[in-house]
Amino acid sequence: MMKLKSIVLFFLFGTTAISCQQSSVKDQAIQPNSHEPIFAKGERITNDNFTGTAWLNNLVSADSVNQNAVGSVTFEPGARTKWHSHPAGQIILALEGVGYYQEEGKNKVIIRKGEVVKCPIDVPHWHGASADTAFVQIAITGREKGETVWLHEVTNEEYNQ
Ligand code: MN
Repeated sequence: MMKLKSIVLFFLFGTTAISCQQSSVKDQAIQPNSHEPIFAKGERITNDNFTGTAWLNNLVSADSVNQNAVGSVTFEPGARTKWHSHPAGQIILALEGVGYYQEEGKNKVIIRKGEVVKCPIDVPHWHGASADTAFVQIAITGREKGETVWLHEVTNEEYNQ
């Protein structure tokens, strides 16, 4: 009788232990590599709306069904946009690194991986990487009221303040 009991116990707990081990192996297998970028960094930006080195991967173009353009922008340290505004606003999702964001008349703020910024309609602002760390953002830009309005460059004094 004791022997039967231990056989039953073995099957109950022995197999539980095995299945736990299997699921932890499975969990490890689906862990993303944190150093692997989520989206390819795309093409180097060559227009003069940016200062420094930045890359753009156009993920979604706006169309009649979906009026937001979605792009992944990678800023190397020190790189940033010019001052600009969006006639239908913009949402920035911080994917990687440390960035800066500033609206006209306000202090520059630091944005980190996992944070979200909502740029109000027609409010001049700029965004980019911090001085020491690259920054990757997803920009979701409303297109239904026209194109981004590009303004003047962000001076080093503004950038470093
Ligand atoms: Mn913007």
